[in-house]
Amino acid sequence: MIRILNKNVADKIAAGEVVERPLSIVKELVENSIDAKSSKIVLEIKDGGKSYIRVTDDGIGISQDECELAFERHATSKIENENDLNSIETLGFRGEALASIAAVSRIELLTKTLKNNIGKKVTIHGGALVESSIYGCPNGTTIVVHDLFYNTPARLKFLKSSKSESSLIIDFITQVALAYPDIKVMLINNGTILFSTNGKGNRLNTIATLTSKIHSDKLIPFEYTEECVTVEGYVSGIGESRKSRKNQIFFINGRVINSKIIEKGISKAYSERLFDGRFPICYLFLTIDPKNLDVNIHPNKREVRFFNEELITSVVKNGILSALNSEDAIPDIKKNEKTFTFREPSHIEKKADQKCDENNVDIKNILSTYNTKVQETQMIITNEKNTIYEDKTVSSFNFEELSIVGQFFNTYVQLKSEDAIYFIDQHAAHERVFYEKILKQYREEEKIKQQLMIPIIFEISHGEKELEEQWLDPLCNMGFSLEEFGQLTYRVIEIPIFFKLSEAEEFLKGYIDNIGDYKNFIHEKAINNIAMKACKSAVKANDRLSKEEIKELLKDMKNCINPFSCPHGRPTFVKITKSDMEKNFKRK
Ligand code: ADP
Ligand code: MG
Repeated sequence: MIRILNKNVADKIAAGEVVERPLSIVKELVENSIDAKSSKIVLEIKDGGKSYIRVTDDGIGISQDECELAFERHATSKIENENDLNSIETLGFRGEALASIAAVSRIELLTKTLKNNIGKKVTIHGGALVESSIYGCPNGTTIVVHDLFYNTPARLKFLKSSKSESSLIIDFITQVALAYPDIKVMLINNGTILFSTNGKGNRLNTIATLTSKIHSDKLIPFEYTEECVTVEGYVSGIGESRKSRKNQIFFINGRVINSKIIEKGISKAYSERLFDGRFPICYLFLTIDPKNLDVNIHPNKREVRFFNEELITSVVKNGILSALNSEDAIPDIKKNEKTFTFREPSHIEKKADQKCDENNVDIKNILSTYNTKVQETQMIITNEKNTIYEDKTVSSFNFEELSIVGQFFNTYVQLKSEDAIYFIDQHAAHERVFYEKILKQYREEEKIKQQLMIPIIFEISHGEKELEEQWLDPLCNMGFSLEEFGQLTYRVIEIPIFFKLSEAEEFLKGYIDNIGDYKNFIHEKAINNIAMKACKSAVKANDRLSKEEIKELLKDMKNCINPFSCPHGRPTFVKITKSDMEKNFKRK
């Protein structure tokens, strides 16, 4: 017999689709609060949301005569007709959430609009109205959900432990707080306030509240636009990285998404700057015209399709490079951070990276000295055909403006400016300089060489001779001229202008030693890698530098595209500011 299901059963079935777990409820309620133009949202949960979820906001509220209607299925104030479907500006519009939640829990609504003098309270248990009365409360809405799935015990069994459920909720509300820095978001878990953002719109502040000082203090802010795509970002410099991508989070038009295309842009920006297997911390907020985006390829909308994927990769990469090439990217020495006020580590850092906890310091202290100004970086568009060296930005940091203090341990060069002291690791710096010069020479038509009075002679093995076709041309392209001098011997008569004889010899040794590792020298990556290894060999350890040589090095670093790290990702220099010193000596 065919019959129409009664409302109660139909609501329970519909609820199954909307309410899967406590997180689904939190999500719907918080999104309603955002749609209600709230400037403050408090979320309180107990037992992972299984026994208690409360969302309180200071939004527009629901007028007295509509409170019961709001719990009807397909009841919404957000759209009116079919046409509205094409221009939805709210997070919700289906009008199903409140009805579904009410069907599988005991729910209480307290609400008051600005227009109404007094508010209203509505209580519903398992979809049935229990109480509806006038009630005194502030403007805004509070919804309390007790005893989720009390009337569908089978579904209760599918929930995970309270800790697992609460961790999903904490992640979600953290993302909301990040996406909406203008909203003050507070989270209370089992009676303890986990965080409360200030809602003043400053993203770095919000990140600081949600993570830890170690995290946020190390982040370099930037904003970058290319062809109508804007990315606001906070990324870690080369001194700070993680073993996984866990600390990378991307928002598109306010929604968290996963994206391989964005990850690709990040990897390109950090290539050479970080060791393989290390990942930077990245908070990226992209704004894109929704027309250039398909958000409906995945049911939970975590995946999106970009119509121009290359543009997205490029915006992310160039935006991050502008940050990494700014002065903010220079790693600070802050050894004595422990002398600051300690505070309890936040929930996220406890979860995300246990080993950072030990270094937590007072975030406000640090933020007051945080320089959020991103240096303007000069964008240079290189010939697209030249893929051998992909970075398009040039560092804006002028090394030549620093005064030289001296060199010590035959390894470090000390410099100073008005408000900071710098230490350069001369070996890492030389490696970087050689590497960039070699690759530049490689891709330029004209090679600048110097002739040797006494040629360098070097020998190779039979195996290396077999591969001659592959490695000989790239070597000549880098600015070496050589002749065969016996079956397995070569004579080098010219070397690149910027090498000393001893450096060129070591470079050649390094180059030949690594030939066997690269089967395909036509590949740009192989050339990059072998040049990187050979440059490392060319740099001498414990080398005393004259003042002239230091000046030369500074000039070379100034001309580098990425002077901040050696090709292997080690920093080339660090900075101690006057303010760091004052803190270390407890003057501040
Ligand atoms: P939807 O959000 O899809 O419209 P819901 O079932 O989530 O459907 O909510 C139904 C209606 O109740 C909303 O359209 C809105 O008018 C009202 N509402 C729900 N939550 C709030 C809130 N926190 N503040 C103001 N109005 C709310
Ligand atoms: Mg809704």
